Amino acid sequence: MNVDSIQNGLVIDHIAAGHGMTLYNLLGLDSIDVSVALIKNVASRKLGRKDIIKIDADIPVNIDIIGFADPGATVNYIRDGKLVEKRTIDMPETLKNVIRCKNPRCITSCEQELDQLFRLTDRERKIYRCVYCETRWNG
Ligand code: ZN
Repeated sequence: MNVDSIQNGLVIDHIAAGHGMTLYNLLGLDSIDVSVALIKNVASRKLGRKDIIKIDADIPVNIDIIGFADPGATVNYIRDGKLVEKRTIDMPETLKNVIRCKNPRCITSCEQELDQLFRLTDRERKIYRCVYCETRWNG
């Protein structure tokens, strides 16, 4: 695909350099059957270096995941080859089924049907805690 000419889809821009692959995996882009380009270490006036992900398909993307993985990222929505919306993404207050609690004694470890819920408890330091057991998520 020509990465510069997406017709319908989205471009995730201003991803901190090196975070593109993490975001790519968190969004599950490896397992969907659409054209995706991950461009690494692009020169950026704002960031020095940045990563960009281009998705050449009109698929729903979980904005919360982007805000969690990289709060500085922007998402550009492309329709008919034109930029129709540009969104700056902030850290979501809650995360549902994005990350898993690692506490083996957490109720979500034994009751698999429960949603994995995390709450942002410290925006400055980007700390998310499990809603059930308060365990801090740390990568
Ligand atoms: Zn937990």
